[in-house]
Amino acid sequence: MKRTFGILFTLFVVLAALYVRADSTAPVVFQVSSLAAFKQGEYDGGTTFAELKSHGDFGIGTVNGLDGEMIALNGQFFQIKSDGTVHAIADSEKTPYAMVTFFKVDRDLRLPPQTRGFAQLQETLDRLIREVNSILAVKISGEFAYLKVRSVPRQQKPYASLEEVLKNQTVFELRNIRGSMVGFRFPSYMDGVNAPAYHFHFITEDRKTGGHVLDCTIEGLPVEIAVKSRLELILPSVLINVTP
Ligand SMILES: [Zn+2]
Repeated sequence: MKRTFGILFTLFVVLAALYVRADSTAPVVFQVSSLAAFKQGEYDGGTTFAELKSHGDFGIGTVNGLDGEMIALNGQFFQIKSDGTVHAIADSEKTPYAMVTFFKVDRDLRLPPQTRGFAQLQETLDRLIREVNSILAVKISGEFAYLKVRSVPRQQKPYASLEEVLKNQTVFELRNIRGSMVGFRFPSYMDGVNAPAYHFHFITEDRKTGGHVLDCTIEGLPVEIAVKSRLELILPSVLINVTP
């Protein structure tokens, strides 16, 4: 009996390990909370970065208390504080809002010789992509001609809405700087769960600064796109105001 149990247990462990390995290549985006809840001031979540790392090596979001901008690239998770400094995030820290995936390139594109402004970047990418009903993970790396990025200061309770917090954002301008833009495009039918638009965070190649991208001028950089057809959503832990 003991032996049978031992064999079954071993089989279970092996199958569980195979499942985890298979899952890391699945086209899944793992998201903590919804944009609607986050916007209302839900800045404390229960998901640790250890858990977030088990669901992706690429992503964006923030840290509990809305303590700056979060960017994950090549499995490294960074926090960009409101003074623009970059800090590695400990596994024990938690996030109220984040989205991650295992980044596997499905499509390679190249931006035209000059893309001026964030609106033009969105229009250009929308013209180049076909998968408008999928979630797209998007990475743009190289030397950026111009970037305007922001971060936000850690909040104290009672938390203000995101709209109020953004009145105190700090904005940085970067020119001729090497680094990576990491972001997502969510389809329009997912409005509220996420933003039905492109959302990028940036980090310099030397990992010294970065932030949430507000504006940019990009000269012909390559774009890598991962197409995702599944979303795993961790629901907000509190009741949010729902207008009927
Ligand atoms: Zn952002």
